Amino acid sequence: METKDVIIVGGGPAGLTSGLYLRRAGLQAILLEKLLCGGTPLNTERIENYPGFPEPVSGRELMERMRRQAEGSGLEINELKEVVRVSKEGGAFLVETGAGTWKALSVIVATGTVPKRLGIKGEAELIGMGVSFCATCDGPFFRGKEVAVVGGGDAALEEALYLSRIARKVYVIHRRERFRAQKVLEERARWMENIEFLLERLPLEIEGKGSVEAIVVEEKGSGRIEKIPVDGVFVYVGSKPDIGFLDGLVDTDEEGFIITDEALSTKTHGLFAAGDVRKKVLRQISTAVADGAIAAFAAQRYISGLRG
Ligand code: NAP
Repeated sequence: METKDVIIVGGGPAGLTSGLYLRRAGLQAILLEKLLCGGTPLNTERIENYPGFPEPVSGRELMERMRRQAEGSGLEINELKEVVRVSKEGGAFLVETGAGTWKALSVIVATGTVPKRLGIKGEAELIGMGVSFCATCDGPFFRGKEVAVVGGGDAALEEALYLSRIARKVYVIHRRERFRAQKVLEERARWMENIEFLLERLPLEIEGKGSVEAIVVEEKGSGRIEKIPVDGVFVYVGSKPDIGFLDGLVDTDEEGFIITDEALSTKTHGLFAAGDVRKKVLRQISTAVADGAIAAFAAQRYISGLRG
């Protein structure tokens, strides 16, 4: 089996940027992506805080541009390749997918996160029948209808704003009085006539037979139970990494995010983590891109060290 210089796992902003930098450094790099390249930004309709784009850009367009640039540099991209195991043997890494095994001197993990679930009754049962984790994907099915968005972070408010242009009414259900989201998003949502904030409400159950009919919430303090009739429930309660394939090669924090040093190295020499998958203070496309560049530089330095 041919040994590559670097294998990048994950084709979001961090992974594609690593690929671009590695290729420009003259290294042999391949990228493995379990779905199609693009990552989390593909779920965002309007990106307004990525520098260089004074007009909002769609996540799809931005990621298409990043992909074209990375491919143009000569990065080999393999999509629909889900990595199931990474191991280190004799100084090299073996990266196993359902469709074969690759070998490399260094690995950059840039697999991002998966949406967290509420874990309440009706949520799992009604996925695809009104419960969704992606407004850009499923929003158009709710034209003229009433929906609830659960969560108080950037994603919840950004997607509530997107849904307010499609649905008749959008309830934002948040468990606290204050939002975690950026102020600009909260203010914009407050301006929308068809967005109603239901604050200090704990979601208890999603009801429906064959499709979502209502969400049941409890008002904090009073304990009053309310049933809000809706056709859809969009869950945006944060996200978590999914890194079972690393099998003890990394240390994580209590939430499962990979702990790295300043050069984005994990506890295993030659294994780096970049983007949302790692423990960090700010998860943005801009910080993922920065991570991708740093991890590529660190991997290059690691490989130079191996080669003396
Ligand atoms: P997040 O910032 O972690 O927010 C999750 C929200 O869900 C919080 O408001 C949290 O409430 C609430 N929540 C968590 N568990 C809950 C539960 N069991 N029941 C009810 N509510 C629950 O997650 P996110 O909005 O997905 O964002 C993830 C990261 O991506 C963040 O770093 C964010 O800044 C970034 N992001 C940025 C942009 C942008 O810049 N345009 C867009 C999207 C995401 P509490 O507030 O009470 O904890």
